[in-house]
Amino acid sequence: MGVIVPAGSAARSSVEGYDPQVHDRFFEVVNHELGEKGFVTAPLDDVITWARTGSLMWMTFGLACCAVEMMQASMPRFDMERFGMAPRASPRQSDLMIVAGTLTNKMAPALRKVYDQMPDPRYVLSMGSCANGGGYYHYSYSVVRGCDRVVPVDVYVPGCPPTAEALLYGLLQLQKKIRRTGTIAR
Ligand code: SF4
Repeated sequence: MGVIVPAGSAARSSVEGYDPQVHDRFFEVVNHELGEKGFVTAPLDDVITWARTGSLMWMTFGLACCAVEMMQASMPRFDMERFGMAPRASPRQSDLMIVAGTLTNKMAPALRKVYDQMPDPRYVLSMGSCANGGGYYHYSYSVVRGCDRVVPVDVYVPGCPPTAEALLYGLLQLQKKIRRTGTIAR
């Protein structure tokens, strides 16, 4: 069980000998609470949201060149899995879809179908200029001018292509958004 204690709270400031250079704030407070009381309390919403942010299973939806950077982000150098994110080959096991590349009119129904197969709560990250708004192909007869015309997008990552670092940054922003807005209410 975890607990989220706001910075500056009484529990946090009462941790004796706290040194931010040496100690981890979160675990210091949890240790202190457990040591003093033997238990920690937190709203169920917060605990479930915290668990969700640390286990985002992402659907592989590479459509064009951006997908190469998406793959790079999960390779050992950037190691997306250290944030608890692992790729899945099935939409039914995925919480997050990374739309990486150019979405064509022909592919749009398939994108929507995959999205519809994902269980709630589900999130979408749009990666790169093409997915964000059509990019280079904005005026092409065959390209969708942004994947948000087909699925609701939570985070947009700009670039052509965005670097693997930029994608990671976008994913961390998504985690923040989930922590801020996440709920178990339906
Ligand atoms: S944004 Fe650039 S790199 Fe990404 S799919 Fe479009 S053309 Fe390729």
